[in-house]
Amino acid sequence: MKKLQDKVAIVTGGASGIGEATARLFAEHGARAIVIADLQDNKGQAVAKSIGSNRCSYVHCDVTDEEQVKAMVDWTVQKYGQLNIMFSNAGAISKSNFAILDLDLSQLDHLIQVNARGNAACVKHAARVMVEQKVRGSIVCTASVVVSNWKGGDLTDYIMSKYAVVGLVRSASQQLGVHGIRVNVVSPSAIATPLSSSTGLTSDVLEKLFVPLISLKGIMLTVNHIADAVLFLASNDSEFITGQELIVDGGLISL
Ligand code: NAD
Repeated sequence: MKKLQDKVAIVTGGASGIGEATARLFAEHGARAIVIADLQDNKGQAVAKSIGSNRCSYVHCDVTDEEQVKAMVDWTVQKYGQLNIMFSNAGAISKSNFAILDLDLSQLDHLIQVNARGNAACVKHAARVMVEQKVRGSIVCTASVVVSNWKGGDLTDYIMSKYAVVGLVRSASQQLGVHGIRVNVVSPSAIATPLSSSTGLTSDVLEKLFVPLISLKGIMLTVNHIADAVLFLASNDSEFITGQELIVDGGLISL
Protein backbone atom coordinates (compact mmCIF):
# COMPACT_ATOMS: atom_id res chain seq x y z
CA MET A 1 0.00 0.00 0.00
CA LYS A 2 1.28 3.47 -0.88
CA LYS A 3 1.73 5.48 2.27
CA LEU A 4 2.48 8.98 1.00
CA GLN A 5 -0.19 9.51 -1.66
CA ASP A 6 -0.51 13.24 -2.50
CA LYS A 7 2.17 14.28 -0.01
CA VAL A 8 4.85 16.86 -0.71
CA ALA A 9 8.19 16.20 0.98
CA ILE A 10 11.55 17.90 1.38
CA VAL A 11 14.64 15.75 1.95
CA THR A 12 17.79 17.61 3.00
CA GLY A 13 21.03 15.79 2.31
CA GLY A 14 19.08 13.90 -0.34
CA ALA A 15 21.92 13.77 -2.88
CA SER A 16 23.55 10.81 -1.14
CA GLY A 17 23.31 7.99 1.40
CA ILE A 18 20.33 7.90 3.77
CA GLY A 19 18.68 10.96 2.21
CA GLU A 20 18.88 9.56 -1.31
CA ALA A 21 17.44 6.17 -0.23
CA THR A 22 14.62 7.95 1.59
CA ALA A 23 13.79 10.21 -1.36
CA ARG A 24 13.54 7.10 -3.56
CA LEU A 25 11.31 5.31 -1.03
CA PHE A 26 9.07 8.37 -0.70
CA ALA A 27 8.66 8.27 -4.50
CA GLU A 28 7.81 4.54 -4.43
CA HIS A 29 5.18 5.34 -1.82
CA GLY A 30 3.35 7.77 -4.07
CA ALA A 31 4.64 11.14 -2.84
CA ARG A 32 3.27 13.76 -5.23
CA ALA A 33 6.49 15.76 -5.04
CA ILE A 34 9.93 15.43 -3.48
CA VAL A 35 12.42 18.27 -3.21
CA ILE A 36 16.00 17.26 -2.63
CA ALA A 37 18.02 19.99 -0.93
CA ASP A 38 21.79 19.59 -0.79
CA LEU A 39 25.17 21.14 -1.58
CA GLN A 40 26.20 18.48 -4.11
CA ASP A 41 24.50 19.83 -7.21
CA ASN A 42 25.56 17.19 -9.73
CA LYS A 43 24.63 14.27 -7.49
CA GLY A 44 21.41 15.92 -6.33
CA GLN A 45 20.31 16.69 -9.88
CA ALA A 46 21.10 13.13 -10.99
CA VAL A 47 19.01 11.64 -8.15
CA ALA A 48 16.11 13.99 -8.93
CA LYS A 49 16.29 13.11 -12.63
CA SER A 50 16.31 9.37 -11.97
CA ILE A 51 13.27 9.67 -9.67
CA GLY A 52 11.52 11.67 -12.39
CA SER A 53 11.57 15.38 -13.13
CA ASN A 54 7.75 15.46 -13.17
CA ARG A 55 7.71 15.07 -9.39
CA CYS A 56 11.24 15.40 -8.04
CA SER A 57 13.30 18.59 -7.98
CA TYR A 58 16.75 19.46 -6.78
CA VAL A 59 17.43 22.74 -5.00
CA HIS A 60 20.88 23.90 -3.95
CA CYS A 61 20.61 24.72 -0.24
CA ASP A 62 23.22 25.10 2.47
CA VAL A 63 21.28 24.31 5.65
CA THR A 64 23.62 26.47 7.72
CA ASP A 65 22.25 29.54 5.90
CA GLU A 66 18.78 30.38 7.20
CA GLU A 67 17.95 32.53 4.15
CA GLN A 68 18.70 29.60 1.83
CA VAL A 69 16.57 27.26 3.96
CA LYS A 70 13.65 29.70 3.97
CA ALA A 71 13.99 30.25 0.21
CA MET A 72 14.07 26.47 -0.43
CA VAL A 73 10.95 25.87 1.69
CA ASP A 74 9.12 28.82 0.08
CA TRP A 75 10.12 27.59 -3.40
CA THR A 76 8.70 24.13 -2.58
CA VAL A 77 5.38 25.58 -1.45
CA GLN A 78 5.18 27.88 -4.47
CA LYS A 79 5.90 25.07 -6.92
CA TYR A 80 3.92 22.24 -5.33
CA GLY A 81 1.30 24.11 -3.30
CA GLN A 82 2.00 22.69 0.15
CA LEU A 83 4.47 20.96 2.42
CA ASN A 84 3.54 17.79 4.34
CA ILE A 85 6.89 16.24 5.22
CA MET A 86 10.31 17.64 6.12
CA PHE A 87 13.11 15.08 6.41
CA SER A 88 15.88 17.19 7.89
CA ASN A 89 18.78 14.85 7.38
CA ALA A 90 21.80 16.79 6.05
CA GLY A 91 24.75 16.24 8.34
CA ALA A 92 28.50 16.53 8.72
CA ILE A 93 31.24 14.77 10.69
CA SER A 94 34.92 15.54 11.41
CA LYS A 95 37.68 13.39 9.96
CA SER A 96 40.12 13.76 12.87
CA ASN A 97 40.85 15.67 16.10
CA PHE A 98 37.49 14.88 17.62
CA ALA A 99 38.68 13.33 20.91
CA ILE A 100 38.49 15.76 23.81
CA LEU A 101 42.26 16.02 24.38
CA ASP A 102 42.81 17.10 20.74
CA LEU A 103 39.45 18.68 20.07
CA ASP A 104 39.50 21.16 17.19
CA LEU A 105 37.03 23.82 18.28
CA SER A 106 36.65 25.29 14.79
CA GLN A 107 35.56 21.84 13.62
CA LEU A 108 33.16 21.73 16.55
CA ASP A 109 31.73 25.09 15.39
CA HIS A 110 31.21 23.66 11.90
CA LEU A 111 29.39 20.58 13.19
CA ILE A 112 27.17 22.71 15.42
CA GLN A 113 26.43 24.90 12.38
CA VAL A 114 25.42 21.99 10.14
CA ASN A 115 23.96 19.45 12.56
CA ALA A 116 22.37 21.69 15.21
CA ARG A 117 21.72 25.04 13.52
CA GLY A 118 20.89 23.47 10.14
CA ASN A 119 18.23 21.22 11.66
CA ALA A 120 16.82 24.12 13.68
CA ALA A 121 16.45 26.23 10.51
CA CYS A 122 14.76 23.37 8.62
CA VAL A 123 12.36 22.55 11.46
CA LYS A 124 11.55 26.24 11.97
CA HIS A 125 10.75 27.06 8.35
CA ALA A 126 8.94 23.80 7.60
CA ALA A 127 6.81 24.24 10.72
CA ARG A 128 6.02 27.88 9.87
CA VAL A 129 4.49 26.96 6.49
CA MET A 130 2.68 23.94 7.96
CA VAL A 131 1.14 26.14 10.67
CA GLU A 132 0.25 28.83 8.12
CA GLN A 133 -1.35 26.29 5.78
CA LYS A 134 -2.95 24.30 8.64
CA VAL A 135 -1.19 21.14 7.42
CA ARG A 136 -0.89 18.32 9.97
CA GLY A 137 2.65 17.65 8.80
CA SER A 138 5.42 15.33 9.88
CA ILE A 139 8.99 16.49 10.53
CA VAL A 140 11.74 13.90 10.93
CA CYS A 141 15.35 14.76 11.80
CA THR A 142 18.42 12.53 11.72
CA ALA A 143 20.50 12.21 14.89
CA SER A 144 22.68 9.15 15.52
CA VAL A 145 23.08 6.13 17.73
CA VAL A 146 25.97 8.06 19.33
CA VAL A 147 23.34 9.96 21.33
CA SER A 148 21.47 7.04 22.76
CA ASN A 149 23.44 3.87 22.77
CA TRP A 150 27.12 4.57 22.44
CA LYS A 151 29.48 4.62 25.37
CA GLY A 152 32.75 3.97 23.59
CA GLY A 153 32.81 6.82 21.08
CA ASP A 154 35.43 9.54 21.06
CA LEU A 155 33.58 11.61 18.45
CA THR A 156 33.13 14.46 20.96
CA ASP A 157 32.18 17.19 18.47
CA TYR A 158 29.80 14.95 16.50
CA ILE A 159 28.17 13.58 19.67
CA MET A 160 27.64 17.10 21.01
CA SER A 161 26.06 18.26 17.76
CA LYS A 162 23.74 15.23 17.57
CA TYR A 163 22.55 15.64 21.19
CA ALA A 164 21.36 19.07 20.05
CA VAL A 165 19.20 17.43 17.36
CA VAL A 166 17.40 15.26 19.93
CA GLY A 167 16.91 18.32 22.16
CA LEU A 168 15.49 20.26 19.22
CA VAL A 169 13.03 17.46 18.40
CA ARG A 170 11.82 17.09 22.00
CA SER A 171 11.30 20.81 22.39
CA ALA A 172 9.72 21.45 18.97
CA SER A 173 7.36 18.46 19.27
CA GLN A 174 5.91 19.84 22.51
CA GLN A 175 5.26 23.22 20.90
CA LEU A 176 3.94 22.02 17.55
CA GLY A 177 1.55 19.32 18.76
CA VAL A 178 -1.16 21.93 19.18
CA HIS A 179 -1.02 22.46 15.40
CA GLY A 180 -1.15 18.72 14.69
CA ILE A 181 2.47 18.74 13.55
CA ARG A 182 4.58 15.77 14.63
CA VAL A 183 8.35 15.97 15.14
CA ASN A 184 10.46 12.84 15.58
CA VAL A 185 14.07 11.79 15.16
CA VAL A 186 15.67 8.72 13.65
CA SER A 187 19.00 7.57 15.10
CA PRO A 188 20.91 5.22 12.79
CA SER A 189 23.82 3.06 13.79
CA ALA A 190 26.89 3.10 11.52
CA ILE A 191 26.37 2.44 7.80
CA ALA A 192 28.91 2.81 5.02
CA THR A 193 28.10 6.09 3.27
CA PRO A 194 30.44 8.87 2.07
CA LEU A 195 30.02 10.51 5.50
CA SER A 196 31.12 7.51 7.58
CA SER A 197 33.73 6.39 5.04
CA SER A 198 35.38 9.83 5.34
CA THR A 199 36.28 8.91 8.95
CA GLY A 200 37.76 5.55 7.89
CA LEU A 201 34.58 3.58 8.64
CA THR A 202 34.41 1.75 5.33
CA SER A 203 32.07 -1.21 4.95
CA ASP A 204 34.90 -3.68 5.72
CA VAL A 205 35.85 -1.87 8.92
CA LEU A 206 32.21 -1.53 9.94
CA GLU A 207 31.62 -5.22 9.39
CA LYS A 208 34.54 -6.15 11.67
CA LEU A 209 33.72 -3.51 14.29
CA PHE A 210 29.94 -3.66 14.47
CA VAL A 211 28.81 -7.16 13.55
CA PRO A 212 30.07 -8.63 16.85
CA LEU A 213 28.26 -5.88 18.76
CA ILE A 214 24.86 -6.30 17.14
CA SER A 215 22.38 -8.62 18.86
CA LEU A 216 20.44 -9.18 15.64
CA LYS A 217 22.63 -11.61 13.72
CA GLY A 218 22.89 -12.37 10.02
CA ILE A 219 22.07 -8.91 8.70
CA MET A 220 23.96 -5.68 8.02
CA LEU A 221 22.39 -2.26 8.42
CA THR A 222 21.80 -0.44 5.13
CA VAL A 223 20.47 2.97 4.18
CA ASN A 224 17.21 1.24 3.19
CA HIS A 225 16.56 0.21 6.81
CA ILE A 226 16.79 3.87 7.81
CA ALA A 227 14.56 4.93 4.90
CA ASP A 228 11.93 2.42 6.13
CA ALA A 229 12.04 3.96 9.62
CA VAL A 230 11.74 7.47 8.19
CA LEU A 231 8.80 6.41 6.01
CA PHE A 232 7.06 5.09 9.14
CA LEU A 233 7.62 8.38 10.98
CA ALA A 234 6.65 10.48 7.94
CA SER A 235 3.44 8.58 7.17
CA ASN A 236 0.14 8.27 9.00
CA ASP A 237 1.29 4.88 10.32
CA SER A 238 2.79 6.88 13.18
CA GLU A 239 0.01 9.43 13.54
CA PHE A 240 -0.02 9.29 17.38
CA ILE A 241 3.77 9.37 17.75
CA THR A 242 5.65 12.60 18.38
CA GLY A 243 8.77 13.71 20.25
CA GLN A 244 10.30 10.23 19.91
CA GLU A 245 13.72 8.95 18.96
CA LEU A 246 13.58 5.82 16.78
CA ILE A 247 16.91 4.03 17.16
CA VAL A 248 17.78 1.75 14.24
CA ASP A 249 20.78 -0.26 15.41
CA GLY A 250 19.84 -3.96 15.31
CA GLY A 251 20.08 -4.10 19.10
CA LEU A 252 23.60 -2.71 19.34
CA ILE A 253 25.23 -3.76 22.58
CA SER A 254 26.92 -0.70 24.12
CA LEU A 255 30.69 -0.84 24.29
P1 NAD B 1 26.13 11.16 3.15
O1 NAD B 1 27.47 11.77 3.13
O2 NAD B 1 25.81 10.09 2.18
O3 NAD B 1 24.97 12.27 3.06
C1 NAD B 1 25.04 13.49 3.76
C2 NAD B 1 24.51 14.56 2.80
O4 NAD B 1 24.39 15.81 3.53
C3 NAD B 1 25.47 14.81 1.63
O5 NAD B 1 24.79 14.71 0.39
C4 NAD B 1 25.97 16.22 1.88
O6 NAD B 1 26.27 16.95 0.70
C5 NAD B 1 24.80 16.84 2.64
N1 NAD B 1 25.21 18.02 3.40
C6 NAD B 1 26.28 18.16 4.22
N2 NAD B 1 26.35 19.42 4.69
C7 NAD B 1 25.28 20.09 4.16
C8 NAD B 1 24.82 21.41 4.26
N3 NAD B 1 25.46 22.34 5.01
N4 NAD B 1 23.69 21.77 3.60
C9 NAD B 1 23.03 20.85 2.84
N5 NAD B 1 23.44 19.59 2.68
C10 NAD B 1 24.56 19.20 3.34
O7 NAD B 1 25.96 10.59 4.63
P2 NAD B 1 24.76 9.86 5.39
O8 NAD B 1 25.39 8.82 6.22
O9 NAD B 1 23.66 9.50 4.47
O10 NAD B 1 24.28 11.04 6.37
C11 NAD B 1 22.94 11.44 6.49
C12 NAD B 1 22.67 11.74 7.95
O11 NAD B 1 22.78 10.54 8.72
C13 NAD B 1 23.64 12.72 8.60
O12 NAD B 1 22.92 13.62 9.42
C14 NAD B 1 24.53 11.83 9.45
O13 NAD B 1 25.08 12.52 10.54
C15 NAD B 1 23.53 10.78 9.88
N6 NAD B 1 24.09 9.51 10.35
C16 NAD B 1 24.87 8.76 9.53
C17 NAD B 1 25.38 7.56 10.02
C18 NAD B 1 26.28 6.70 9.18
O14 NAD B 1 26.94 5.82 9.74
N7 NAD B 1 26.36 6.87 7.87
C19 NAD B 1 25.05 7.11 11.31
C20 NAD B 1 24.24 7.91 12.09
C21 NAD B 1 23.75 9.10 11.60
